[in-house]
Amino acid sequence: MRLSPVLRAGALVAALALAVTACGGKSQQAAAGGDSLVDRAKAANKLTIGIKFDQPGIGLKTGDSYTGFDIDVADYVAKKMGVDPKNITFKQAPSAQREDLIAQGDVDLVIASYTINDNRKQKVSFAGPYFVAGQDLLVKADNTAITGPDSLNGKKLCSVSGSTSAQTVKTKWANDVSLQQYGGYSECITGLLNGTIDAITTDNIILQGYASQPANVGKLKVVGKTFTSEPYGIGFKKGDTKTQQALDSYIQNMEQDGSWAAALKKNFGADFKVPDQPAITEK
Ligand code: GLU
Repeated sequence: MRLSPVLRAGALVAALALAVTACGGKSQQAAAGGDSLVDRAKAANKLTIGIKFDQPGIGLKTGDSYTGFDIDVADYVAKKMGVDPKNITFKQAPSAQREDLIAQGDVDLVIASYTINDNRKQKVSFAGPYFVAGQDLLVKADNTAITGPDSLNGKKLCSVSGSTSAQTVKTKWANDVSLQQYGGYSECITGLLNGTIDAITTDNIILQGYASQPANVGKLKVVGKTFTSEPYGIGFKKGDTKTQQALDSYIQNMEQDGSWAAALKKNFGADFKVPDQPAITEK
């Protein structure tokens, strides 16, 4: 077939676009059809969700299986979106990469102990909150010097880059403490156990997850004086209001039908005091 130069150029562009779509292997955001993730996910019956891989109780990868409260939330909302949880591809979403993973279309949703705040809302949209945590401190079980945020002067703290926890330390105690930042909280645990750092700081339920690990029982303790409010949201591409409204209603369903309380007890222990359900706030 003979094509004019203009048509030939057009055909080349179309072929390239097809090739990019075909080999992209990207999340639903990059797939064709529909403006809103809820529509595209339902049509394709698949979702790519960013979670934590190293936070017991919240998001943990063990071999090929994924467990934690965030995974239960992911499974629940996926089902409501018309996606079989078996068709979820979980990707690791370290704290510092969550906005970029969403913006670049590498994941459809981030459900990863992800605090809703104004800074992040400039780049991504949130549904929720589906839980409200608070920043706390994890120390060695025999530590009597650190009793709360007022006893950190001169101490060595560990937290994670790109987290609100590290940001709080930098904002409040820049001159009083030395802050070691890693890519994930599990990396801080080694330092705490071998004494190179004095405390780990992040959300109370993350810290409780580490303290409850069989290997750490009796060795570590959560101080138990929270000093921030960390409302966890589900992050997705900025401006997708249809997805936001849908996810907000699915979170409410999860709270109302008992699955939410059941997921909290399953992941944090039968004794976990299920808090009041967080109100879905204006976003
Ligand atoms: N919730 C806080 C945040 O989103 C700390 C936990 C985390 O790093 O995932 O930054």
